[in-house]
Amino acid sequence: MRLCSFSQKNKEHAYKTFTNKQNRLQEEKFASIPFNNRLVFVPHCIRNTKLCAAEEKEGYYTCSECRGCKINEISRLAKELNYKTLYVLKGGRAIEKIIKEQKPKAVIGVACFFEGYQAFNILKDKNVAVQFTSLKKDGCANTDVDIEEVEKALRRRI
Ligand code: SF4
Repeated sequence: MRLCSFSQKNKEHAYKTFTNKQNRLQEEKFASIPFNNRLVFVPHCIRNTKLCAAEEKEGYYTCSECRGCKINEISRLAKELNYKTLYVLKGGRAIEKIIKEQKPKAVIGVACFFEGYQAFNILKDKNVAVQFTSLKKDGCANTDVDIEEVEKALRRRI
C-alpha cells in the first residue's frame, strides 16, 4: 500500500515536471498567437452538475454561462478577449477531432497534471502552441481552479 502511494506521488511529480517544462518551452510561441487563433479546453469535472445547463455534444459540452461554476468566468473572459471557442471536455479523446475541425494555432488547457501530460503528447505534432494551467483541486467531480492563474494564461501576449 505504501509502495503504491509512493509510486503515485512519483508519477504526479513526473507529470508536473513535464508540464512545467512544456509550458516554459512553448510560452513564447503561444504568446505570439493572436487571441482569435486560440482555443480553450477546460474539464467537465469543474461543472456544477446540479445546475449545469451546458449543451452536451459528442466528447464535450458547450457552456451556456449559467454562472453555476467557474467555467462561466473563463468563458466570459475568453469571449471578451475574442478567443475562437471554449470547449468543456469530457476527456482527452475529443482533442484531436476538435483540432482537426477548428485548426487553431494555440490552445490553453485546464486539467489535472495527468490530463495535461496527455494533452501535450496528443498535440506535440500538431503545430499548436500549448499552455497548461493545473487544477488546484483535482478528482472526477467538484474540482477547482485558480481563476487568476487561468486569466494570466489567457491574457498572455508578447
Ligand atoms: S457555467 Fe457553464 S459549465 Fe458551469 S455549470 Fe453553468 S453551464 Fe455548466
